Amino acid sequence: MVKAVETTLEIDLNALEHNYSHLKARLKPSTKFMAVVKAFAYGSDMAIIAKKLEALRVDYFAVAYVNEGVMLRNAGVKTPILVLHPQSVNFDELIERCLEPSIYSLRVLKQFLTVAKQHGQSDYPVHLKFNTGLNRLGFWERDVNFILQQIHNRQEIKIKSIFSHLAASEDAAEKEFSLKQISLFEKVGAELQEKLEYPFMKHMLNTSGIVNFSKAQYEMVRSGIGLYGYANDAAIDGQLKPVATLKTIISQIHKIEPHESVGYNRAFKADGYKMTATLPIGHADGIGRQYGMGKTSVLVNGQPALIIGNVCMDMMMVDVTGIDCKEGDEVIVFGGPLSAETFAKTANTISYEILTGISQRVKRTVKK
Ligand SMILES: *Cc1c(COP(=O)(O)O)cnc(C)c1O
Repeated sequence: MVKAVETTLEIDLNALEHNYSHLKARLKPSTKFMAVVKAFAYGSDMAIIAKKLEALRVDYFAVAYVNEGVMLRNAGVKTPILVLHPQSVNFDELIERCLEPSIYSLRVLKQFLTVAKQHGQSDYPVHLKFNTGLNRLGFWERDVNFILQQIHNRQEIKIKSIFSHLAASEDAAEKEFSLKQISLFEKVGAELQEKLEYPFMKHMLNTSGIVNFSKAQYEMVRSGIGLYGYANDAAIDGQLKPVATLKTIISQIHKIEPHESVGYNRAFKADGYKMTATLPIGHADGIGRQYGMGKTSVLVNGQPALIIGNVCMDMMMVDVTGIDCKEGDEVIVFGGPLSAETFAKTANTISYEILTGISQRVKRTVKK
């Protein structure tokens, strides 16, 4: 393994391949796989991740916004791309770059039909999103007839799939609610299919859905976090491998006398002799102040070292008292032996947030 010489997010493509195979092995061979690569592929690198998954013949990509789909197209990605939450101002660009919109309301349906007509499109692939209980985006069941009226005798679009999203797929206590969402989705799907003369795909499961509700895999699933090595479930996490490892180095070591302070607002006060290490990574890199004040540890030569005082914009200080280390040594912030999920929990958040928050200032490398 190459040692870090500056703050680096290291991307392990073998881990990605392992996770992809693991998730696919939980599905029927015929089930299509949509890889969710929004938000820079959960904070890693969209182009690197998507090119690898394309080489592994993933069926579909999903992004949140049109500009993310454009980034994939600019990177040479040819696989179909669903845009989960397109803004109508970007519909022209969406069509020009062959991106496929999620359409989630009557307003958006009308807007898209208008733009598709202006572009002279016929059978443009679209995906209808139904709300089954998350109450975030989606048509309601009662909208089915209106949708059919709107598209009746219109050539511009073709419904390629319908989909919905579970509100609590990782939560065993909400199993009944999830099953209700699934049965409502099946009801809506059957209603629409009865009146539409051509078939469409259905998809509902995110990563935890694949783990907990695999019966509802239909024709396709949409997985994000699992590909990156986390599954909201300690047992499954053990079978996945983290793709991203955030590494940094020790810039300087200080010997702190009793009652001296460290950092802004003198927020850490030494209760004895301490050794501290200053690291070139701060809240502008995505390690927020909520990780400071002794809540969270990083790994210095394999030993946990607490982040002390206030995290600064470009630096943070860790307590290395009693740890054998020197300036220039590598530090693991998370990934590898220190799961991002464990790291995130110390600040009451989830792996998704810490991963996607690593700023674009941090250099990305691919693990050799
Ligand atoms: C982000 C997202 C996913 C991926 O969820 P994971 O829990 O990361 O697998 C799937 N579907 C929709 C609609 C999403 O917004």
